[in-house]
Amino acid sequence: MNREELNAATERLKNFPRKKKFLIAIDSDGCVFDSMNPKQIVVFHAKIMEFHQLWGIESYLREVAEFVNLFSRTRGCNRFIALQHIYRFLTEIPEIKQVIMEQGITLPDTTTLDAYIKKYKDISLGNPTLEEYVQERRESSLSKLLTWSKAVNSTVAAKIKNIPPFHHVREALALASENADLIVVSQTPYEALGREWKEHNLNNYVRVIAGQEMGKKEEHIRIAARGKYKSDEMLMLGDAPGDRRAAEANGALFCPIIPGKETQSWKRLVEEALPRFFEKTFAGSYQKELMAEFDQALPSKPPWQELNYDHRTSYRERQPLRKAMYERFDPQGRLLIMEEEDK
Ligand SMILES: [Mg+2]
Repeated sequence: MNREELNAATERLKNFPRKKKFLIAIDSDGCVFDSMNPKQIVVFHAKIMEFHQLWGIESYLREVAEFVNLFSRTRGCNRFIALQHIYRFLTEIPEIKQVIMEQGITLPDTTTLDAYIKKYKDISLGNPTLEEYVQERRESSLSKLLTWSKAVNSTVAAKIKNIPPFHHVREALALASENADLIVVSQTPYEALGREWKEHNLNNYVRVIAGQEMGKKEEHIRIAARGKYKSDEMLMLGDAPGDRRAAEANGALFCPIIPGKETQSWKRLVEEALPRFFEKTFAGSYQKELMAEFDQALPSKPPWQELNYDHRTSYRERQPLRKAMYERFDPQGRLLIMEEEDK
């Protein structure tokens, strides 16, 4: 990474001069760029099955993992915590027990994963601390976890490239920047962010790009805003509950980019939400409507806990998305396609 560039960006964030009346903070992954879907569907979930020989329960594993990482309140959570959720949920689906028995599959034992999370969750969960823990405990299940995590990183770097922004993003940024100072707030490394925003010529719309090295999203907004904007003059755009919390911690308004409806969300931003924000009619009932839609897109109750749950129907619902991701990022990759049941 270019240290000087990072230092310059950090200085720009600290000395952020207000130029426009409004401030808009924008998350990047899964919000501006469609990077969450391919990373999770094509890489994370496939690597879990590859490492633990779980292809025999592919449809269940994909459904559970997509719920945890993409389509529920835990969207965007840490990868190790996601694994905990996934393995726990897998034991919860009644019909899966039978499939596991029939196929002679063993679900991974999570004892060492649980111990790692317990020890490091308040410090940092990531490859550097996991490496430390592997040295300390020297257990094969931990080494395997680390190898999985590294394989995920290298496969993401190799396969998930040149991701375009969602439709209407450019239009929205152009409109937003007329009246607002724009900043990118993200937990992605600064180098990757700079590259992605430049690659698509979006960097000229934003004043500062803040990455994981410059603190949490909540802190990025606090440092940039520093009492320069009123509450109803600050807006955060994001796709995960964590983004909403970053906005709320700063008293800012929040406009969701709804997972699964990103294009419509950006279009709505251009046509409705931004004009409302600038006219100060965004807060109140309009924001509440958007929040209700966001909550509905990210439920806390999984589909398999609903009455009338049918696994096949449920799996097929997201099949077009999976197919699109594999066709684009890993055409030779392994993906179970469920045909409509013969009548
Ligand atoms: Mg995001």
